[in-house]
Amino acid sequence: MPNAICEERNLIDPMPPETAEKLETFFAAVRSAPQSILLLDYDGTMSPFRIDRFQARPYAGVRQFLARIQKLGRTRMAVITGRPAAEIAPMLALDIPFEVWGLHGAEHIALDGRRQMEQASPAALATLEQIRAELARNSFGGLIEDKPNAVVMHWRGASPQKARAIERKTRKLFEPVAAIDGLSLLDFEAGVELRVGRDKGGAVEAILADNRETTGRDSPVAYLGDDLTDEPAFRAVNAAPGPSLSVLMRRAPRSTAAAIWLRPPDGLRTFLAGWTSAQSQVAKAKV
Ligand SMILES: [Mg+2]
Repeated sequence: MPNAICEERNLIDPMPPETAEKLETFFAAVRSAPQSILLLDYDGTMSPFRIDRFQARPYAGVRQFLARIQKLGRTRMAVITGRPAAEIAPMLALDIPFEVWGLHGAEHIALDGRRQMEQASPAALATLEQIRAELARNSFGGLIEDKPNAVVMHWRGASPQKARAIERKTRKLFEPVAAIDGLSLLDFEAGVELRVGRDKGGAVEAILADNRETTGRDSPVAYLGDDLTDEPAFRAVNAAPGPSLSVLMRRAPRSTAAAIWLRPPDGLRTFLAGWTSAQSQVAKAKV
């Protein structure tokens, strides 16, 4: 019987009072603002992880919430992902245009479909090309992903021992070239990326600056993410001049700059329901 109670508690997953309070305060700001900004990571945040990333579909109910929020017309919504930006629209499979920042912020697809790519230096691209060639000869048993601005090594799904070996060999290859020609290392869970360009924090700052320029306001902003690569985005949101909420959306908590932790998929649905409700009330109030 005690086990049954425990299981039931896990299913209900009650929210700590301080989390509920922060959500309530933030949604009150969303309710009274003419426009708010909702920024979301994709993999692990809106969808479960899949080793084949093209199988990572959004959790049940998420697409409907996003469509509803978009329809209410009071949210600038964007996905900020490590993937190439063009991969997100087919995953979301929505009939509405969506702003996407890809490659951790180095690439932008605007609502009107225009695509912009941050320019990397020829020296950085040449170095990436050399590393690609080396990994083509020996990939250390990991999974290589090529991006226009990066080379990525994944070890998700490998045994802990094998993952450690892949990581050690990859770092030995990546570290000497990181920090030259504008290249940097980006650690994420189960992998490391050698890259050039803006990070997710830079993408958040660009969105906030653009919003301020176009609306003349510091709109309420929330960022939802799960990975280490989302930490710069949490910090950028925390530093926003207007009301803000950074949310670690992850199965288990960890040390983070995020203001609150919610567990997907229930925590995500609760958050999106709260957002929808706040905006519906704004919409009604304006009638
Ligand atoms: Mg993620």
